[in-house]
Amino acid sequence: MSTDKNPTESGGTSKPHNEENTNKTSEAWGYDLYPERRGTFSPKISNILLGREGKEGLEKVKCEKNVYDCIKNSSIVKLMMAALRSSGCPVDIRRHISCEVCDYSVSGGYDPELNQIVVCQNVSTRKGMVQGVLAHEMIHMFDYCRNNLDFKNMEHLACTEIRAANLTHCSFTSAWSQGDASWNKIKEAHQDCVKTKALYSVLAVRQIGKAEAVDIIEKVFPKCYKDLEPIGRRIRRNSEDMDRAYREASYYGYE
Ligand SMILES: [Zn+2]
Repeated sequence: MSTDKNPTESGGTSKPHNEENTNKTSEAWGYDLYPERRGTFSPKISNILLGREGKEGLEKVKCEKNVYDCIKNSSIVKLMMAALRSSGCPVDIRRHISCEVCDYSVSGGYDPELNQIVVCQNVSTRKGMVQGVLAHEMIHMFDYCRNNLDFKNMEHLACTEIRAANLTHCSFTSAWSQGDASWNKIKEAHQDCVKTKALYSVLAVRQIGKAEAVDIIEKVFPKCYKDLEPIGRRIRRNSEDMDRAYREASYYGYE
């Protein structure tokens, strides 16, 4: 899996990637964080009493409604849907997006084995979070479609996480849109955000040392940070960028 970390826990990204189907391998690739993927999920009685579990049916309905609303109304999600469609990988909501109960440390993920986005219904409970998960995971889906991305290749993984952080998550950070910081400071803060976010994402999926992960991210950073497809500009919160990117989608051939 490519895992989207729960932002309230540590900052945030992506996990479903798998190859062999043994449980041991599954854990190494992050499937342990998605119990419904393995069919091992069952509510714990202590959690039902705390009101944390046992409401999966209701959560799923809410989650699916949020997904549907984002696909109908969110400019960035609509743009990504169009980009995927014109790249030959159209998204069928029922087939490619799945609301599931996940470990509380993750908010969503992308499963390249099944070409499916997982939205963690017990964590991503608000529409804004669902939009963030969909946009982020659709970048992975796009890279997988466009580039024959190999999630087992560390450089590929680092690159797609850099792109997802750059085009979605880090564009929402406040430092980026603050008027008082100098341009260079903003640029630096934005790059730091992308590197940090990508690092968390890579470390969440792969059991490698931090230093090694940092080296890989630094190595591919210049090339992957520059690659703004299919959004074309970084999306800033509270700006018209989302709508603008969507309006300009035809220039990039996404219609
Ligand atoms: Zn990710």
